[in-house]
Amino acid sequence: MRVAVLSDIHANLAALDAVLASVGTVDAVWHLGDVVGYGAQPNEVVERLDAAGAIGVRGNHDAAAIGGAEIELFNPDARTALEWTREAISERTLGWLAALPERLVTEDILLVHGSPRAPIWEYVTGPVPARAGIDALSRLGASICLHGHTHVPVVFADAGGLVDALEPDDGWTYRYAGHPALLNPGSVGQPRDGDPRASYCLLDTDRAEATWHRVAYDIASTQARMAAVGMPTFLIRRLEVGV
Ligand code: ZN
Repeated sequence: MRVAVLSDIHANLAALDAVLASVGTVDAVWHLGDVVGYGAQPNEVVERLDAAGAIGVRGNHDAAAIGGAEIELFNPDARTALEWTREAISERTLGWLAALPERLVTEDILLVHGSPRAPIWEYVTGPVPARAGIDALSRLGASICLHGHTHVPVVFADAGGLVDALEPDDGWTYRYAGHPALLNPGSVGQPRDGDPRASYCLLDTDRAEATWHRVAYDIASTQARMAAVGMPTFLIRRLEVGV
């Protein structure tokens, strides 16, 4: 099965459309949460994912956008964007986001937004949370985990009790068969690794391989839509530098 794995789309429709055009025909689309927040097109992004038959999990921005008390935990810019999102989302978008589970296991693969042990909020930024996440995999009934949240593409792989951190380049393939690992596809809608292009990965579950890809999109059109609804300047400017 060929699967497009998308995370942290953040209501950026131009980025999502560029990615969907680039993946071509796939058997499934899996998303890892933060479908909304930051960007100006939450309803359109949810419609697109729904039309693609995407399945996925809830992110921290999704939880806050549907009314969760988590909104108190966000920095001022993110909170401003979430308050706008709460007003902007349709009943249909609200229902779609509310139905997202915190964890999902499919094809022996765990999908979460943050980490295996704390699926909504934990950032897997280094070996300590990565080790804990890898150790939790068998208990959660999975051999590998797909996660997002940091907006940085990376693989944390088991290395004899230690953890290797591997940084994917555009076109890089990781063979995960027999290797407990956490795979982060990077962010579609707000990359933070210094490359402003949308980031995602393609999974081939028959070959047990994941390949990372970057796609240029019309950043200026996304920025113009954000400016038109009064999003904070920092959130608009960061898209062109990818931080
Ligand atoms: Zn995010």
